[in-house]
Amino acid sequence: MIRQGLLWLSEQQWVFDFARRNPLARPFARRFVPGEDLGEAVAVARQLAGRGISTSLDLLGESVTREADADAARAEYVAMVDRLAATGDGVEVNVSVKLTQMGFDIDEELCFQNVAAILDRARAAGGFVRLDMESSAYTQRTLDFFADRLFERWGAHCGVVIQTCLRRSAADVERLVAMGARVRLCKGAYLEPPAVAFPEKAEVDRNYVRLMERLLDDGNYPGLATHDEKLIEHARRYVQRHRIGEDRYEFQMLYGVRRDLQEKLRAAGHRMRVYVPFGTQWYPYLMRRLAERPANIAFILGNILREGRGSR
Ligand SMILES: Cc1cc2nc3c(=O)[nH]c(=O)nc-3n(C[C@H](O)[C@H](O)[C@H](O)COP(=O)(O)OP(=O)(O)OC[C@H]3O[C@@H](n4cnc5c(N)ncnc54)[C@H](O)[C@@H]3O)c2cc1C
Repeated sequence: MIRQGLLWLSEQQWVFDFARRNPLARPFARRFVPGEDLGEAVAVARQLAGRGISTSLDLLGESVTREADADAARAEYVAMVDRLAATGDGVEVNVSVKLTQMGFDIDEELCFQNVAAILDRARAAGGFVRLDMESSAYTQRTLDFFADRLFERWGAHCGVVIQTCLRRSAADVERLVAMGARVRLCKGAYLEPPAVAFPEKAEVDRNYVRLMERLLDDGNYPGLATHDEKLIEHARRYVQRHRIGEDRYEFQMLYGVRRDLQEKLRAAGHRMRVYVPFGTQWYPYLMRRLAERPANIAFILGNILREGRGSR
């Protein structure tokens, strides 16, 4: 119930407008979004690289309805790629992009031109662009766009995301394995109807195990994006048993979530990538994080109160 409510709120523009004006909401967001500008995100990438953890930077924003906004987002991504390429210190050129931020809902050709500009730049820098996966309304279109328009031209420089909450995902994984495409595997962050998604968490988790094993066996460098310790333990045992080298997959987690586990995996010799979102459009992202773990609301409030008391 709480999850549904928070996910519903994540789509309400009027709540976002209220939240942005509310000074209390900013420290709330900071737990998961390190800053509003690129400089802050790059500083985090540099810090993490210093600890042997790689990153994927994400300029927050989605569901763009004006061409000018899509163009502005593209320009920011191109600048981001250039900045990452110039940073050095072990920081990789790796970004995550949402197609609806690039104009997917306005005109597919506009979206293609925007994504192509980012991909060209990323390829020139030896980098990588991941298409984040949005709600199930976009799954087919996103996968077709990737397979028909991007993969042949940019191959190893681009990848997609599969959500194990969706009933269709086993078939999608087969298609992507056959193509040799890079896949990030996650459970899925959106509110989906039972017609397309497993309603029970146990089923989502079982599907994760099944698709993770498939990708570890025959996929192209899968990104195992989860904070679920049971699934991570399963992956660790599986790669050991099947003698799958640490250079054939990576674990991925979100900025601000389970930092202890991120360190533990890295220390154990696994590759670890952290997704670092930044920008002013943090509200829907924050609400999805709160929906995943409503206890976060109390946790963050507690931190804010403690810090407030400490600074007095
Ligand atoms: C790198 C990365 C990229 C992602 N990209 C996408 C994408 O493109 N599309 C998409 O739909 N979803 C994406 N997600 C989100 C994903 O689908 C899940 O919603 C999210 O990761 C929570 O699922 P979980 O696997 O951690 O398992 P859960 O069962 O939700 O959580 C397992 C445990 O992890 C911890 N945990 C999980 N979430 C949080 C949180 N927010 N705060 C604190 N603790 C938490 C808790 O201890 C929890 O018990 C991405 C996730 C990651 C890590």
